[in-house]
Amino acid sequence: MNETIQHFINGAETKGGGGRYADVYNPALGQACAQVALASTEDVNAAVAAAHAAAPGWAATPPLARARVLFKYLQLCQQHTDEFAAMVTREHGKTFADAQGEVARGIEVVEFAVGIPQMLKGEFTDQIARGIDAWSMRQPLGVVAGITPFNFPVMVPMWMFPVAIACGNTFVLKPSERDPSASLLHARLLKEAGLPDGVFNVVQGDKTAVDAILDHPDIQAVSFVGSTPIAEYIYARGSAAGKRVQALGGAKNHMVVMPDADMDMAVDALIGAAYGSAGERCMAISVAVAVGDAGDQLVARLAERTAALKVGDGMAQGAEMGPVVTLAAKQRIEKLIGEGVEQGATLVVDGRGYRVAGREEGFFVGGTLFDHVQPEMSIYREEIFGPVLCVVRMPDVGSALELINRNEYGNGVAVFTRDGGVAREFVRQVQVGMVGVNVPLPVPMAFNSFGGWKKSLFGDHHAYGPEGVRFYTRHKAVMQRWPNTASAGVEFAFPQMK
Ligand code: NAD
Repeated sequence: MNETIQHFINGAETKGGGGRYADVYNPALGQACAQVALASTEDVNAAVAAAHAAAPGWAATPPLARARVLFKYLQLCQQHTDEFAAMVTREHGKTFADAQGEVARGIEVVEFAVGIPQMLKGEFTDQIARGIDAWSMRQPLGVVAGITPFNFPVMVPMWMFPVAIACGNTFVLKPSERDPSASLLHARLLKEAGLPDGVFNVVQGDKTAVDAILDHPDIQAVSFVGSTPIAEYIYARGSAAGKRVQALGGAKNHMVVMPDADMDMAVDALIGAAYGSAGERCMAISVAVAVGDAGDQLVARLAERTAALKVGDGMAQGAEMGPVVTLAAKQRIEKLIGEGVEQGATLVVDGRGYRVAGREEGFFVGGTLFDHVQPEMSIYREEIFGPVLCVVRMPDVGSALELINRNEYGNGVAVFTRDGGVAREFVRQVQVGMVGVNVPLPVPMAFNSFGGWKKSLFGDHHAYGPEGVRFYTRHKAVMQRWPNTASAGVEFAFPQMK
């Protein structure tokens, strides 16, 4: 293990002067595979200085010229998909096929971003008064920053920087220190695509780097994706420093299964959405709400499928689920499973102590299924972020809705039913940002926008799509007249239309 993953500042990789390093693990092996440099405040200052110096030139670059750089980067991403995916599997643990899917969803945001010139058009009104015209335009903010979580090391940064850069901003990315390699591949490919030095910078690091970003006076806006306590902290500290902040937090996503649902479809959906990526997705379903007599059938079928999950090294042929990200994550998940048992839930499938032959040190947790979970139990209240599915039984759709609306999170939710009336009312009444009807993971496409409600998002803009363009631009209203119209003379009263 002699690889050191560095920062990328002003077009070049650098170790920086922080002098601190963290181990990066291959979770399937349970061994460190590289080291990552941890930025000091001075390293962050150097990255912001580079971004600040590049900002006027990039903002003045015509939108179409900016889009052409992103178009070249898009082609490079397509060529390097498997390289990105292998990095993700090595440092995160998810299966290679899942990692390829992550890269594909990230690329979709670049496809959206190359069309952003269309969205930067303003509005024009002729003759708002005699000889006066008005228009609006959207301008970039300047230097903006992104702070991202471990669970989508390729895609979540791509929710941010392609949109920000297409809008004319310069960018400082602080990726997760758990799986930092992909950030440098983004940086290299952007440079190869012709992006000027300083427009995209990466600082690796931990809380020191994050705090330096939050306090830096030259950073205009911060996008964050991660857990709720940190999201709340980022929002409070960043906005107190006068920045625009969007901070996406954790989740506890429910899927309601009505007795009339297509059970084959519901079971397939639950197995994929609960255990895909070992449950380490902010849109993972962690609670199945079985309504009426759906419960017995659902649990029996889920039990069989959960016990049969193929868990292994993410690079292994046929693996459906890889390890969780760290030993600490494995221990936390197993502790929560223990609490579920102590607090009286029925443990139907127990994934604790899962061993994979040849990968004995890997951070594996097997698929775990609980039945008869109650809302006061810690397995219901806490975001487990592991392969644990809790079944809660409810008598009717009204009580299912009440349960979901009482939950402090509001990221994603789904209802499985054949009844259009039930689905319609559910969609209208549920207090959650992204809703699926017979769709378990309603992740919006790149030309829509992504975001939750309640403690799943602090701030008022969702990520990427039109909301992302609004977040990374400021609206300016202009009125203009030329001296060839006669002066109306001095006006002391508020002007009125005549
Ligand atoms: P995390 O909150 O631990 O870390 C996210 C980022 O914050 C990382 O870059 C990390 O270095 C930094 N950070 C961690 N502790 C910090 C501290 N004390 N002060 C300042 N910065 C700190 O999250 P994670 O474990 O990397 O990711 C998993 C979480 O992210 C889950 O809660 C998941 O639901 C959430 N998530 C949410 C979304 C969404 O769209 N809402 C998407 C993906 C992940």
